Amino acid sequence: MLPPQSTSDKLCRLGFRYNVSQSVHTRCESMDDELSVLQNKVLELKKKRNALILAHNYQTMDIQEIADFVGDSLQLAQTSAEVQGYDMIVFAGVRFMAEMAAILAKNTPVYIPETEVLCPLAAFVDAEVVCKKKKEYPGVPVIVYVNTTAETKSEADMICTSGSAAEVVEAANCPRVIFGPDSNLADFVRKSTDVEIIDLEPSGHCYVHQRFTVEQIEKLKKQYPNAIAIAHPECPDEVQEAADLVGSTGMMVKTVAESEADTFLIATEMGLVHQLQKNNPEKTIIPVSEDAICFTMKRNTLKGIYNLLKNLPEENRVTVPEHMVQHIKNILDEMNRVKGNGKAAKVTTKATTS
Ligand code: SF4
Repeated sequence: MLPPQSTSDKLCRLGFRYNVSQSVHTRCESMDDELSVLQNKVLELKKKRNALILAHNYQTMDIQEIADFVGDSLQLAQTSAEVQGYDMIVFAGVRFMAEMAAILAKNTPVYIPETEVLCPLAAFVDAEVVCKKKKEYPGVPVIVYVNTTAETKSEADMICTSGSAAEVVEAANCPRVIFGPDSNLADFVRKSTDVEIIDLEPSGHCYVHQRFTVEQIEKLKKQYPNAIAIAHPECPDEVQEAADLVGSTGMMVKTVAESEADTFLIATEMGLVHQLQKNNPEKTIIPVSEDAICFTMKRNTLKGIYNLLKNLPEENRVTVPEHMVQHIKNILDEMNRVKGNGKAAKVTTKATTS
């Protein structure tokens, strides 16, 4: 069953590449000749299982091409909450993303193609770190980045994405907050607000984005003087400073599609670079580093999705303990509310469970 058109419209407004609307569905069928044998086999099994495939922007193009939706972690989580009529969701991304889909999907089981896909950034902290920090700073709210496990989120007071971090910190309405685990995103927030930021984990970083350098951007800027350089906020502070724009993968997709500029220097994972070039063939998309590859994301393969759809191993199903679900839903709702209307809200700090 296809999602209702209203869902399609809404997701298009969110900057989505939407593959399942009537017209694009036709496109997918007419693309069959161009798809590989394995891609067609996956599509056959997907139909048989009545499965929805969600793929993160960092997945390889062969996966993105057969996905129903491609987007950033929040867009995909919202999609899982809005679509109806599927018997299962296949989430091609890392585990924390699939957990959010599992929390928001209404009674639709969520599966991941590979079980060992814990985001190394998310692994910097756990619930114990949050509880310890809360004891150290009683009454100071803990705001965690969406790139954290469900267990970590279940102890946090608020949650944010890279695109909403500064607004969420402001909305906490406190002179200081504990923020993490990404220390580069924390620096980005420090520059955007007057709120004192206490690092949840001062060494927290994404190893993929941490490797970008100012020299790489400057060299490319000399080569392409009219290009717009866009860096992800997980990049080091000086790289963000060297770029023209800083934003999430969702922002990059929107900016490249809508900007009148024709050349872009992109400082994020290569999966998005490939997607941007494919979807904007008239523009020139230059990766700031071709080495920016997330090996955790790349554990997901087309063959893995095929095997998952064929065998449905129970260990690939992602579930979140019931006692965590409502609190995480609440803080996600609060983040969406803050992002939606920008109004400040007083945060009530959650008591630690340990
Ligand atoms: S790119 Fe970085 S933040 Fe994203 S999944 Fe990989 S390690 Fe985690």
